[in-house]
Amino acid sequence: MSQAPDTAPVGKPRMALHTKMLIGFILGLGAGIAANMLVGEAAWLDALIRYVADPVGQVFLRLLFMLVIPLVFSALVLGVVELGDPQALGRIGGRTLIWILVVTVAAVTIGMIMVSVFQPGAGIPPDVAGTLLASGSERAGQIAGQREGVSGVDILLNIIPRNPVQAAADGDLIAIIFFAMMLGIAATILRTPGTKTFVGAVEGLYEICLKLIDWVIQLAPYAVAALLFSITARLGLDVLVQLAQFVGTVMGALAVHTFVVLPVLLLVFGRMSPMSFFREAQPALLTAFSTSSSSATLPTTLMVAEENLGVPRPVARFVCTVGSTANMNGTALFEGITVLFLAQFFGVDLSFVQQVLVLLMCVLGGIGAAGVPGGSLPVIAMILVMFGIPPEGIGLILGVDRFLDMSRTVVNVCGDLVGSVVIARYEPDAPAVVPGED
Ligand code: ASP
Repeated sequence: MSQAPDTAPVGKPRMALHTKMLIGFILGLGAGIAANMLVGEAAWLDALIRYVADPVGQVFLRLLFMLVIPLVFSALVLGVVELGDPQALGRIGGRTLIWILVVTVAAVTIGMIMVSVFQPGAGIPPDVAGTLLASGSERAGQIAGQREGVSGVDILLNIIPRNPVQAAADGDLIAIIFFAMMLGIAATILRTPGTKTFVGAVEGLYEICLKLIDWVIQLAPYAVAALLFSITARLGLDVLVQLAQFVGTVMGALAVHTFVVLPVLLLVFGRMSPMSFFREAQPALLTAFSTSSSSATLPTTLMVAEENLGVPRPVARFVCTVGSTANMNGTALFEGITVLFLAQFFGVDLSFVQQVLVLLMCVLGGIGAAGVPGGSLPVIAMILVMFGIPPEGIGLILGVDRFLDMSRTVVNVCGDLVGSVVIARYEPDAPAVVPGED
């Protein structure tokens, strides 16, 4: 006997999770900005942030991060096994790669064009620049130091883990993805009782992860409010105003990518209405904004892709999991803008060929950056050094980075979700993509 879906419970109607998240989001944001403006210096506000808002947000973030490695591992092994044959894997893998390259190149190009037109690096008053550089100098020095040992070749070589257990301990998701895919391919070819038991166990792990995520996600509205409160109460809007031109350029470029490029691709190749996409994708986009981390958002991204956007499970698991670390449109766009912005600021002239090289490095940088808060900063430091721009210049933008990080992570996750819808369209055996009903 089939049952009606659990969307309209009898009795007192419960508020939908995404509505609760939106309320938490607005409350946290509004209260944080108000607190910063009214009682920004008060000791009790500092205590409130440190002992209440921060820990609440951290509990949520840690619970999500706790699930990332088992989830990525099990989702990919199963994604590959469920595709059934290596040919399907090759096809979806190839399409995912093409998607990543096309949308990332588009994103970086938009960013680079906007930064060339608006020239935000030329408009910073020297006294403001001096203060910003001084306040960010310590962290900028640390970030610039981290770039060592990461070269273009290393990014490629590091895909293969020497020791998968170590890679898991280091949270090295690309290496885990590689390992899980190899296991999945071998398990698909070798259909022995042993491999079936293994796949069954991985399936159990995946189901357990999903159950845990279901519990953790219930905390999201409160955590979103706490995370936004502590960020905005601490930062306020002052720095945003000082770097308004830079922030405006980044936000404008992110908006063009998210509200023009991705919707057009969604409509033409995914044949889905952008309006229903954005409505259904809301939980993932809000989680991305409040956590600033594609990896921490992955559990929600998978849930949204499968349950709200109707993407078939193997496609969703493959595209969203790989995409969470390799497909970072917002990050690549931000890297392009920041490199050119700092070149303008320091008066470094980049030839056309050098600008094309910056574009290529940013595309690689989007693939190589970790899906964690500030994951792109070491990559930017590396690119700056390559082009003779002082990497300490990152200090200039650190004050606004958190806000921009939140925004670019939304675009990163949006790119993964649109990609999963588009790729699902081209899978002959995939069921039709029907956005969930409200
Ligand atoms: N926070 C971004 C993400 O997780 C990475 C970055 O741009 O720093 O997607």
